[in-house]
Amino acid sequence: MNNRFPQLAWLLLIVLGAFAAAVSADELILADEGKTAFRIVVSDSASPSTKYAAEELQKFLGEISGVELPIVSDRTPMGEHEIVLGRSTRLRQLGVQIDFDKLGPEDYVLRVHGGHLIIAGGSRRGNLYGVYGLLDEHFGCRWFTTEVSRIPKRARLAVGPLDETMIPVFEDRDIFIYDCLDGDWRARNRVTGHRNRLEAKHGGRTDWHHYDYYVHTFAKFLPYEKYYDEHPEYFMEIDGIRPKKLKQEGQPCFTHPDVIRLVTEEVLRIMREKPNGTVISVSQNDNPLYCRCDRCDALARQEGAQMAPLLKLVNHVAEAVEKDFPGRSVETLAYMWSVKPPKTIRPRDNVIIRLCSYGASS
Ligand SMILES: [Zn+2]
Repeated sequence: MNNRFPQLAWLLLIVLGAFAAAVSADELILADEGKTAFRIVVSDSASPSTKYAAEELQKFLGEISGVELPIVSDRTPMGEHEIVLGRSTRLRQLGVQIDFDKLGPEDYVLRVHGGHLIIAGGSRRGNLYGVYGLLDEHFGCRWFTTEVSRIPKRARLAVGPLDETMIPVFEDRDIFIYDCLDGDWRARNRVTGHRNRLEAKHGGRTDWHHYDYYVHTFAKFLPYEKYYDEHPEYFMEIDGIRPKKLKQEGQPCFTHPDVIRLVTEEVLRIMREKPNGTVISVSQNDNPLYCRCDRCDALARQEGAQMAPLLKLVNHVAEAVEKDFPGRSVETLAYMWSVKPPKTIRPRDNVIIRLCSYGASS
């Protein structure tokens, strides 16, 4: 009789311990004092970015809790406690409905379902972003630079109840700092862009229309060498003259009807050649010059901004793009003299303004 209480107490502790690793009012204890009941489930046919997402999740949960969660195939029999990553047979077994067709390429869902944590994202890198969303917004991980991170240490790691859908507000999120071109750093901070090292495991780069048409593109659409001798009126007028190419590239006369037509035709030609791109840049050459002809000057004065002649041209191009390439975007810079927005002219829905905070750090 004297031994019965301790035996019952131990039994009770074992039962409580089992539940501690499981569910408490929709809260999941992913790790506790060096132990876990969870594993990460991924489909065998998952994309490179989803498989990489599983590795990243395992790595950082390990750094936080000191426990390594195994990664297993969705062909293994269902366990009581799992993190289910991406589209797999496990979701059907659990009866979880995720409308993957409605998720954008970087959207994701985080949901606690019974003893399971679901991370389900869009086709391109949604699952990877779901992992980083969990680590960043729920567990406090931060990747400040490629060399400085903060990964909190927690003996007891809990999550939930949780049911959230995340959709990026901006289609492309790019910063231009050499230290941050690193693909791993960019993916962890959900920074995208064209000029970087996002590999297949990160979901790849943004599909701009070829590197040559990423920024400062008027020199390519309307080269001085090709047009100046016959049509100097296509190019900027300064102090009453239209100088042949200066040390710098100069700019076109944005309000000349032929310039608007030629740039539009060239943009459509390039988009037909490279139909997989989603964004093309129609943007000023990299210098502080702009046309001061009567027509450009009148429009700039009327709109109170030198951006007006440029944006009017860009809108015209974007209208033609929308007809032939619906869903594609035309980007232009707000840079140096074009930072101030016009009074009434607004960018069309398929125009992206890339604001360059020129001089902000000087
Ligand atoms: Zn002009």
